[in-house]
Amino acid sequence: MQPESDKTERVASDIFAKCREFTTAQEVIDAGYYPYFRPISSALGDEVVMKGKEVIMIGSNNYLGLVGHPKVKEAAANAVMKYGSGCTGSRFLNGTLDIHLELEERLAKFMKRDAALVFSTGFQTNLGTISSLVGRDDAMVIDRSDHASIVDGCRLSAGKLIKYAHNDMDDLERVLKIAVNNGIRGGILIITDGVFSVEGDIVDLARLCRIADKFGARVMVDDAHSIGVLGEAGRGTASHFHLIDRVDITMGTFSKSFASLGGFIAGDVSTVDYVKHFARALIFSASIPPSSAAAVLAALDIIETEPQRRENLWKNAHKMHKGLRELGFDIGSTKTPIVPVMIGDQTTCFKFWRELNDSGIFANAFIPPAVAPGKSLIRTSYTATHTDRQLDRVLETFAKLGKKYGII
Ligand code: PMP
Repeated sequence: MQPESDKTERVASDIFAKCREFTTAQEVIDAGYYPYFRPISSALGDEVVMKGKEVIMIGSNNYLGLVGHPKVKEAAANAVMKYGSGCTGSRFLNGTLDIHLELEERLAKFMKRDAALVFSTGFQTNLGTISSLVGRDDAMVIDRSDHASIVDGCRLSAGKLIKYAHNDMDDLERVLKIAVNNGIRGGILIITDGVFSVEGDIVDLARLCRIADKFGARVMVDDAHSIGVLGEAGRGTASHFHLIDRVDITMGTFSKSFASLGGFIAGDVSTVDYVKHFARALIFSASIPPSSAAAVLAALDIIETEPQRRENLWKNAHKMHKGLRELGFDIGSTKTPIVPVMIGDQTTCFKFWRELNDSGIFANAFIPPAVAPGKSLIRTSYTATHTDRQLDRVLETFAKLGKKYGII
């Protein structure tokens, strides 16, 4: 028998080995095609400065153009002067300011719901809401194209995760039938994007709600890309379909039309109160800083009083749908200011992106696994404040590159 101290212990493999072996990003950087983490060194608007050069920004979510609005900036600056720069604690403990409560009241009223709850980011809103509501015996039924924060929210829940084909209501009905007949003992929450963040299409909410009713399921809509964009006064997807009373929970972010950072849910009092006391992403994370809350309040004032911004946004979106389709691009089934331009092959997508950037235009390149293999695309998105001159330049550049790469 060997003494205990002489035995050689098995050594674990190095958990960081994969980091050293990950060279793909560096290879793309070296080839000059890397489209990510590009620093901007100017005010954020429809034109920004990148690497000392002015470029037209068609890769933001600044739908109503409010990020640089003087009233929004002033509100944020005044809030810093009044409250300081941060909250240093969660809403649950020391981090609730009177303006958080004012913001929740204003959001509930705007969304025409009884209550609202503000989280620190949109991502955390989905994490906290889904994981607190869906228990072990319950099921979450999600669209295959739902945002990553919905998928991760589901991963944090002990319930059963069921997916259906993108915006395919027959498939939703099929999976619900199986779930109900095959042993889901608890409740069911269907969670869908209102506007899908890459495809730009709109959920078939009327049918989704009819199917939900048939199976006794509840409905949660992620309106990150819909608020300020869709529906009466920009109230989002449920309003667009006249279904405010049917959708159980609407989730929104402040990082797009609201020109700030944070997220929220709106719903009935008991649901919101439950999430408030069980969502770990809320309870264990610091609340949004006063400047962010004040910026949203100012943005909300503008959204409520300047409908012409939404009108301009739609005018610009329709111009780009028509312009890109007439040039011969495949832009999928978008119905909104998010306009994906299908490229296909990943390397061609990187090259296309690079030449677009060299021509003074910034858009976002989406490659696998964010999209299916062979379905790489350039995601473009438009704002209320883009000018015809800027949009015409975008169309001319796409025409030139589309021909060069044999896409049109
Ligand atoms: N949901 C959707 C559909 C989104 O597109 C995003 C952000 N891209 C989020 C949630 C997360 O929001 P945030 O950026 O505020 O964390």
